[in-house]
Amino acid sequence: MEPLKAGMVSRTAAGPIAVVGAGPVGLLAACLVSRHHPVCRVGEAIRAAPPEKDPRLYALSPVSLNLLERLGIYTELGIERCRVFSELEIWIYRHRTRLRFSATDIGGGLLGATVWARDLLSVLEACAVASGITCLEAHPEGIVRTGYGWKLPGSGMENAPVLVVAEGGGSRLRERQGIPLDIHDYGESAVTGWCAVEREGGDVLRQVFTPWGPLGLLPAPGGGLSFVWSMPNPVAHAWQARGTQEWAALIEEATEGLYGRITLPDPPRGFPLRRQVARRYVAERFALVGDAAHVIHPFAGQGLNLGFLDAGVLAARLAQALDRPGLVRWDAAIGAYDRHRRGANARFLSGLEAIRLFFRGQDPLGWRDQALAILARHRLLRRPWVEVAAGHGGRRHLR
Ligand SMILES: Cc1cc2nc3c(=O)[nH]c(=O)nc-3n(C[C@H](O)[C@H](O)[C@H](O)COP(=O)(O)OP(=O)(O)OC[C@H]3O[C@@H](n4cnc5c(N)ncnc54)[C@H](O)[C@@H]3O)c2cc1C
Repeated sequence: MEPLKAGMVSRTAAGPIAVVGAGPVGLLAACLVSRHHPVCRVGEAIRAAPPEKDPRLYALSPVSLNLLERLGIYTELGIERCRVFSELEIWIYRHRTRLRFSATDIGGGLLGATVWARDLLSVLEACAVASGITCLEAHPEGIVRTGYGWKLPGSGMENAPVLVVAEGGGSRLRERQGIPLDIHDYGESAVTGWCAVEREGGDVLRQVFTPWGPLGLLPAPGGGLSFVWSMPNPVAHAWQARGTQEWAALIEEATEGLYGRITLPDPPRGFPLRRQVARRYVAERFALVGDAAHVIHPFAGQGLNLGFLDAGVLAARLAQALDRPGLVRWDAAIGAYDRHRRGANARFLSGLEAIRLFFRGQDPLGWRDQALAILARHRLLRRPWVEVAAGHGGRRHLR
């Protein structure tokens, strides 16, 4: 028999893997991991806001949809709660060139689908219940490290082999582990809301680079548009005072009448923006996933997609460790997750920042429009952009 070394544990001695964080990434990680090993969720009662109040509409990549489908969730969402889009259109306000990325550029049928945050959470929660995942009332503050893994206070559980932390950007357990962050405050807010439109714009996700910042326009399930408008804080604060009619007029103007008359039933909501990246995603028997590991600018709508890839890759590495005969090398699995995801996310983030900076500020020489025109003419040059939008980068580590 193999001698017992640090980081290796008999599978019979291991309790359930503990997942902390009731957001979409924590729930997906819990459901995926539970297909290979028992899982418990910790601290469920702690949630920033009731999910029905969350105004976000997520654009999910085909890779994220594929992860959901492994659990039957994409089918469960159905066409009522999920709206497929097959094209992405980008232009600069008051410029003529329209750059269109199409799923056919990469031989696929779709570029993604939109789903409301509240619907996504409700199907993921139902999936967690159906997967037999237990909820422990233990408070995450009291979680302590033991020789075997983690002791969850007040629950009688003393041997959770791994703690998966998906507490979002303000993660306390990350702080307690002493994992340092690189932080950059953008000095911007993302203002988001839903509007009814006179003319539906088809299954196309659009991005207009306006003088105030990028405006994302997502076709919503059931019709209308969700918009995410990133703008400097002083502009966002000044505009927050405006009524819904003024907002509608601003969006009509920014979209140059493309959707006809626009109506906003409710005032939009602002989210302060910052980039925040953990220098390590893991510690001994401890893994950060989703926004707990990285918060990015939402202009490209990829934060949750990266978090879903984290959950998928972590679940795949843990499953590999559990499939091997003999003792389970938990820390080796966690280390492999860190190597795959930290590098991939850092590369993705650099690309995203380059695009964001390219479209910022004035462009007196019209270089941006020329760059868009070149991309619009050459399908081969467009391909890497579409690959990124479709989330294909991390796919190979999901097995
Ligand atoms: C306006 C806007 C639009 C966006 N649009 C998109 C998009 O189109 N596509 C995309 O991919 N991404 C998008 N994002 C990014 C996306 O919202 C985040 O990346 C995503 O929510 C991260 O999910 P998460 O589960 O990691 O963290 P969160 O969504 O923050 O969830 C973490 C949850 O854990 C809870 N929690 C915290 N501490 C504890 C604890 N100790 N115990 C238990 N629970 C705890 C929190 O209350 C929270 O409910 C957008 C972001 C913004 C601001």
